[in-house]
Amino acid sequence: MSEKTVLSMRNISKHFPGVLALDNVDFQLEVGEVHVLLGENGAGKSTLMKILSGAYSKDNGQIFLDGNEIDIRDPKHAIELGIGTIYQEFNLVPFFSAAENIFLGREFKTSAGTINWKKMYEEGKKAINLVGLNSSPRKRVRNMTVAEKQLIEIAKALSLNSRILIFDEPTATLSEKDVDHLFKLIRSLKAEGKSIVYISHRMEEIRSIGDRCTVLRDGKYIDTVRIKDTTRNDLIRMIAGRTVDLSKKCLVEPMEEVVLEVKGLEAPPKVKEVSFDLRKGEILGFAGLVGSGRTEVMKAIVGEIKKTRGTVVFENETINPRHPCEALRKGIVYLSEDRKDEGLVLKMNVRHNISLGNLKSICRRGFLSDKKDRKLARKYIQDLQIKCPGDRGRAENLSGGNQQKLVISRSLASNSKLFIFDEPTRGIDVGAKEEIYCILQRLAREGFGIIVISSELPELLRICNRIVVMREGKVTAILDNSDLSQDEVLNHAMGE
Ligand code: ADP
Ligand code: MG
Repeated sequence: MSEKTVLSMRNISKHFPGVLALDNVDFQLEVGEVHVLLGENGAGKSTLMKILSGAYSKDNGQIFLDGNEIDIRDPKHAIELGIGTIYQEFNLVPFFSAAENIFLGREFKTSAGTINWKKMYEEGKKAINLVGLNSSPRKRVRNMTVAEKQLIEIAKALSLNSRILIFDEPTATLSEKDVDHLFKLIRSLKAEGKSIVYISHRMEEIRSIGDRCTVLRDGKYIDTVRIKDTTRNDLIRMIAGRTVDLSKKCLVEPMEEVVLEVKGLEAPPKVKEVSFDLRKGEILGFAGLVGSGRTEVMKAIVGEIKKTRGTVVFENETINPRHPCEALRKGIVYLSEDRKDEGLVLKMNVRHNISLGNLKSICRRGFLSDKKDRKLARKYIQDLQIKCPGDRGRAENLSGGNQQKLVISRSLASNSKLFIFDEPTRGIDVGAKEEIYCILQRLAREGFGIIVISSELPELLRICNRIVVMREGKVTAILDNSDLSQDEVLNHAMGE
């Protein structure tokens, strides 16, 4: 440990049900450095930082602050110790003003014990100016842009005297100008001797702002390096590790016929001139960093967001759906990332969730036929091996993997030709993931066109025929997957 070390985490381990999120990880932070935490999705970066910010407790290991061992009890305690976190999902109260948010829980009081608004706004103004924001301390958070909210979070952390500031993917949702401003701020904080942990995947950012970098992979510590002494390719190699086991690749041969052709699709601000095609029986992967525009491409295709240019040809017909329902009627199913929000009616039972997709065929003279309804549910429960204690149980009581299967079965019950899956295995355990892959491949064999957006590269490399890589709204490569490696995909996704 050098004398510049302010924080040291040693042999940190953390289990979650079914995963070892951190396996004996070491991490050292120096005074006045920007330390980048790097690693693929699921590598354990956020978990390590949540332990530091008191949101999670560690199973094993030790944490030292200024050489003294500390036990971080909860988020409040972490803040008292000078550890501030700027969360991606902000922790601000929308209806409160900037000043109220900054001093939440420690409002300035008058001698009579009421809130001293004059002082609140004065101090609020100072705190806001410190992060280079010119807006009023009275402005309500709900009227702020993402960038403003983030700066308010930083102002709050600074006013709490944080010496260590943790940024977890702070720029994923910021515009270029806001990123510039944030970087200026981070550089000045660094010059004042603050220590900054910075999680990001964006290569140009990492190299412009970072001093050192620690790489995690699959919950394990890989290495800590000085960024300016390390090439971009070396970093990518450390993140990706060995190339993927090619023997695990399992590709289904697609048919000749094209089912979807997208040309010059534009949907500002996120989608810029995207073109690709998809054959029947093909699984087409979409890789890219969070915020690269993958989801927006799909939403523009199904009409959930407005496209301003380009054509979408589906089954030899130019289509222009104004709403996902219209796309669905034509045979395009978009299964969003958020099953809970859009995919399922959680309070409804399993059977009705399945039949929802195909009310027409199971209704007789306008009434729901109980017999047909039951038959349909049985078929899909068996077909997709949905594990449920019968078709009468509520969807909300199923595991994530089984909920996902339920969503799929519902769309199968309709007469679709194209499935778009957005992060189909997020939050699902390994076993259920395997089953979802099998289902996707079965759908491909049956001639459906399949698009899969995933942040887990090994997953795309296993099942996709081709992979479209996106960065900042553009397609940077369309790669044939027959002998593709993770490095190559990351290379196109990370930029610089
Ligand atoms: P990263 O931030 O590097 O993408 P995370 O730290 O979020 O990775 O996740 C590491 C692993 O721990 C992943 O496998 C993830 O699914 C799992 N994980 C993270 N948080 C939880 C949680 N609250 N419950 C269960 N598993 C979790
Ligand atoms: Mg994370």
